[in-house]
Amino acid sequence: MRVFKFGGASVQDVDHVKHVGKILEQNAEEPTLIIISAMGKTTNALETVATAFFDGRKDDALRLFGDIRKQHLTLAKYLLVLEFNPCIAQLADFFTEVEWLLHDKPVREYSYYYDQIVSVGELMSTCIISYYLKEIRLNTVWLDVRDILRTDNHFQEGIVDWEFTENATKTQLLPLFNKANFVVTQGFIGSTDQCENTTLGREGSDFSAAIFANILNTNGLTIWKDVEGIMNADPRLFPEATYIPQLSYKEVIEMAYYGAQVIHPKTIKPLQNKNIPLHVKCFLDTGLPGTLIDQHPTKDLPPILINKHQQVLIHLRTLDFSFIEEKPMSRLYKIFRELKIKPNLIQTGAISLEVAVDDHAEKIEQFAQSASEWFDVQVQRGLSLFTIRHHNDVAKSRYLSNKRQVLYQENELHLQVLYEAQ
Ligand code: ASP
Ligand code: MG
Repeated sequence: MRVFKFGGASVQDVDHVKHVGKILEQNAEEPTLIIISAMGKTTNALETVATAFFDGRKDDALRLFGDIRKQHLTLAKYLLVLEFNPCIAQLADFFTEVEWLLHDKPVREYSYYYDQIVSVGELMSTCIISYYLKEIRLNTVWLDVRDILRTDNHFQEGIVDWEFTENATKTQLLPLFNKANFVVTQGFIGSTDQCENTTLGREGSDFSAAIFANILNTNGLTIWKDVEGIMNADPRLFPEATYIPQLSYKEVIEMAYYGAQVIHPKTIKPLQNKNIPLHVKCFLDTGLPGTLIDQHPTKDLPPILINKHQQVLIHLRTLDFSFIEEKPMSRLYKIFRELKIKPNLIQTGAISLEVAVDDHAEKIEQFAQSASEWFDVQVQRGLSLFTIRHHNDVAKSRYLSNKRQVLYQENELHLQVLYEAQ
């Protein structure tokens, strides 16, 4: 058994969905769990619905959702003939779920509504695609992942309940393969024990795929992407970027952690724990080898370049001149933990500490307020964090000379520069 994951770009329109069908026709010999994201930019569009609803702009929310609904219906119309009516009936249930909610007034927190609304993107895409696969006579079943992927109620970043999910996968998902070769389900979403929708964080479908690959102990996970494979840099920013045929789990987890938009950072652990190889394959040219990620160490890597934008540097100095030791550090980490802030770079001095974090204005404000009890706090905005892994002198002079540096750190494996974004 294996798991395939198709991201939003791979299912963005009629031609892409048909191409998914072709890939599956060519790979019909092995039972496959197929994890799919919302189509194209649907998640972004649903985010604007959630914001409008939460801001009390009910008519805007309904109108914006109406557009999304229309796009999906049009797509279904182009793709389906025999399966059109049952597909439309199922889609109607999802539309109703959201529209009922939009007629209410918000009384709970934003992230709760975000998850109830945004999760419909994956429900709609998988519904249409599974009916399309039936239409082209692939033996397919659709599964509502909310029945098996259980999370806690941290909306927008649900924490997975592995025990429940493992049990439910074995008792509810696995038997579906007795009657079908393909099981299609949603990435990114799950459900609480109260049957509320949850999401796993943006781009979380990769993580969903890895969770099921782990539980089902599959031969491999293939993530189909609109690129040749993993590159050492974003080719839109660095035309000299090169493709890398093989990488270790460790290398990829580090790349993702520093902000490379290759794979969701949480994807690697479930695979590494069971030694499941991850293939990143080119969606449009399936003959290309792609990138293989597994436990083998990677040698002779080119410098890997990662830019993470919208960073702020928080300068902290102890008010009473205490050293930055255990006590002030544990106070800071407590605040980070409470606000779910992840430090991207830390530099300490005797009585001062500088920490770069993603620019979430509201969280930083709360952080500054809490930390000001013990520290003088200054916030510097408009920065980017540039990381080079496996740096060498050529890469250093080529990529660092034009940057207005604010903070610099280097060790044998990587260097990081926080610089003023233009
Ligand atoms: N549809 C979700 C997003 O755009 C999840 C994913 O694509 O992985 O973030
Ligand atoms: Mg995506």
